[in-house]
Amino acid sequence: MTEFRYSAAERCTWCSMRAVIPTEADADQIVAAAEQRLLKYRCPAGDGWHVSYPAAEHAMLIDMR
Ligand SMILES: [Zn+2]
Repeated sequence: MTEFRYSAAERCTWCSMRAVIPTEADADQIVAAAEQRLLKYRCPAGDGWHVSYPAAEHAMLIDMR
């Protein structure tokens, strides 16, 4: 399994520069690492997957390095 580095991810210009997560498996890993505080969703522009922070979209980002 490849290790996806969230901090080094490409950004999606369609989605407010959210990090692009290439595969659903990587998105699942990030959600699990964040103890389910994140929601994954498929990019509407076809750039893979993104995660959102439903509880605190404006709060500081979780450090996932
Ligand atoms: Zn997107």
